[in-house]
Amino acid sequence: METAEIRRRWLTFFEGKGHAVVPSAPLIHEDPNLLFVNAGMVPFKPYFLGQETPAWTRATSVQKCVRTGDIDEVGKTSRHGTFFQMNGNFSFGDYFKRDAIAFAWELLTTPQPEGGYGLDPERLWATVYTDDDEAEQLWLELTSIPKERIVRRGEADNYWSMGVPGPGGPCSEIFYDRGEEYGREGGPEVDEDRYMEIWNLVFMQYELSAVRSKADFDVAGPLPAQNVDTGMGLERIASILQGVDNMYEIDEVYPVLEKAAEMTGRTYGASSGQTAGDSHPDDVHLRVVADHVRSSLMLIGDGVTPGNEGRGYVLRRMLRRAVRAMRLLGYEDPALPHLLPVSMERMSASYPELRTGFDRIAQIAYAEEQAFRRTLAQGTTILDTAVSRTKESGGDTLAGEQAFALHDTYGFPIDLTLEMAAEQGLKVDRDGFVRLMDEQRQRAKADAKAKKGGHANTEVWKELRSLGATDWRAYEELTTQGSVVG
Ligand code: ATP
Ligand code: MG
Ligand code: MG
Ligand code: MG
Repeated sequence: METAEIRRRWLTFFEGKGHAVVPSAPLIHEDPNLLFVNAGMVPFKPYFLGQETPAWTRATSVQKCVRTGDIDEVGKTSRHGTFFQMNGNFSFGDYFKRDAIAFAWELLTTPQPEGGYGLDPERLWATVYTDDDEAEQLWLELTSIPKERIVRRGEADNYWSMGVPGPGGPCSEIFYDRGEEYGREGGPEVDEDRYMEIWNLVFMQYELSAVRSKADFDVAGPLPAQNVDTGMGLERIASILQGVDNMYEIDEVYPVLEKAAEMTGRTYGASSGQTAGDSHPDDVHLRVVADHVRSSLMLIGDGVTPGNEGRGYVLRRMLRRAVRAMRLLGYEDPALPHLLPVSMERMSASYPELRTGFDRIAQIAYAEEQAFRRTLAQGTTILDTAVSRTKESGGDTLAGEQAFALHDTYGFPIDLTLEMAAEQGLKVDRDGFVRLMDEQRQRAKADAKAKKGGHANTEVWKELRSLGATDWRAYEELTTQGSVVG
């Protein structure tokens, strides 16, 4: 079943159950704490918080999402994209656990000729929160899932809150058993690649008076009106319904991967195992290309432009990683002009504005690739020389001075140095790098003071600060070193 059809069936099904069909919001949301929309419920937050009253009590959507925190998983697990679409159904003080579970079961298991997804009920598992007897009882009553396939899980996986006082409550997740060729038996606790999470049902049931961490919160009491927020990964269910191994091989993503394989002369899947986890590095690179090209397309489509901070830096990093993955596969010419149109062709079925706006999108992406090619041309030899010298002298860590020089003179962002050094088996002395950055900042400050009214060169500093503003893990590590937290 094509992804477009899966989406259509979703909306039709929930419309038939009295839900208003709400179009996807753009990836950029007004919430300043949020880099990008990362879940279907984000546009509905004011309703869940009781700040606004919706015109309906039931809604459904297919929401564009970006989760930068998942970037390290891309291509390595079978199911994490930086961009993905979350199908959602929502109840605002209307139905609760019973209907949410019944709807999910009906849509998943109704045979395809009758409008459902036709999943084999024998392959479905459910999780419930530690003390949510009610949800477990409903799974047993309303579905054919036996008790053995209902797993209880704690706060980390099965409790939802916004991280602040307000609504919170237990979740119940649905997993699909992809079969023994994908991993060990025993349910989601044992293997989340074999047992793939497809759908999360969130039951907003309580008012939380304090949230200290995901696992540490105080419940003030029941909410006056209970809400439901669910999210199903469109790409994940597409991979199941299309009978492919992972989300990079579905109809909306695979053509880019295929094109990249053709351009680089590599054979995708030639030496990979069944699970994405033990893939050949070439396969991982090809998946990264397919994922990042699509994410870049969607981000530029929604108005993001490459830059040195925040959202712009996420896009810049995504484009650069795609280009570098192509290089690692041996392709050194400009790559995006061959790849981006392929992604647009696939995605414009659901997002026609990508086609009408493509000239603008392409111009931004191609210009960024050109700029990056210049940066690489200047810095790569220097980096390679530094790496060989380090290795020759028996070291395993690139000096902070080298990383700093690459940054200062050749415009190599630290994350690029970290990645490229890692590819050659070296660590980078981050502390040394951070110290030099700090010193430079002090000098610039003193300079500016001396000149009075002169401008300090804060570009470098801004870059480091922007690292903190994004949620790339490498940056988090870097910024928690202490001295660079802006
Ligand atoms: P996982 O544990 O697999 O990382 P999650 O628990 O973080 O998923 P939720 O926040 O519950 O995911 O989001 C709801 C649904 O969205 C998931 O059940 C999954 O189907 C889908 N989803 C989440 N993250 C991604 C991603 N990075 N790429 C594709 N689909 C995703
Ligand atoms: Mg996750
Ligand atoms: Mg999960
Ligand atoms: Mg989940």
